Amino acid sequence: EFQGKRALVTGGNKGIGFAICQGLLQAGFEVIIAARSLDKAKAATQKLPANSTVRVVKLDVTDDDSIHRAAEQLKQEIDSLDVLVNNAGVYQDQGVNILNVSRSILHQAMDTNTFGSIHVTQAFLPLLQKATQARVINVSSGYGELDGLSADVPSYCLSKLALNGATIMLAEALQSQGIAVYAMCPGWVKTDMGGENAPRSPEQGADTAIWLATEASLDMSGKFFRDRQEISY
Ligand code: NDP
Repeated sequence: EFQGKRALVTGGNKGIGFAICQGLLQAGFEVIIAARSLDKAKAATQKLPANSTVRVVKLDVTDDDSIHRAAEQLKQEIDSLDVLVNNAGVYQDQGVNILNVSRSILHQAMDTNTFGSIHVTQAFLPLLQKATQARVINVSSGYGELDGLSADVPSYCLSKLALNGATIMLAEALQSQGIAVYAMCPGWVKTDMGGENAPRSPEQGADTAIWLATEASLDMSGKFFRDRQEISY
């Protein structure tokens, strides 16, 4: 059904991002694994079935030159992009709280989780505009809900709260172009970030993102989802 459609996933080399790549490949997409290390992106492709329709691109979401080089490279290789998944993220709040978190930790979280998603969306907009009914999926978190804010997870909560805000604004700005923008929470997932105690597999964490890329109504643009259901910001 999705043969000929293309999706790019930032931080697609491991964790939830890699599981999203696997799911979209199974659905028939051509998938572009974007990673800040090209070697890691290439290594990830080795874990996929041999006949997978996969490309790799080097993309550090905190580096505008890297973002623009990636967009320029892909403009040479493909003529449109149907799905962009802003998945790359960092969590650096171990042992800090809102009373002592440094400016540099706050900055790093915002730069990666929030500003990265905004600037990657901007850079890939020309390719998204060439697809029909393109979708942008921002991988957010329950820590970005107003009810989910925690003083012990300051930089991550603020960055995901702001990512949710950016989702609402991007959806509004792109509505007239027929491009949908969603935020989603994967739940607590067993990855390098989520740790060993997390109850969900990366595949379970990826499910709602894959559903948003393939099945969700475009009328739900600007909304926040978990387990394929709308949740409140
Ligand atoms: P991982 O730490 O396993 O993977 C994070 C990915 O982001 C890696 O591919 C990493 O690349 C990449 N990344 C980090 N910084 C950059 C950057 N500057 N440029 C490009 N890529 C970057 O985490 P998860 O898979 O668990 O998390 C994926 C997303 O899901 C994140 O946005 C996270 O906030 C969100 N999330 C995760 C939850 C969980 O329980 N795991 C819960 C809620 C949300 P590299 O391999 O080079 O480090």
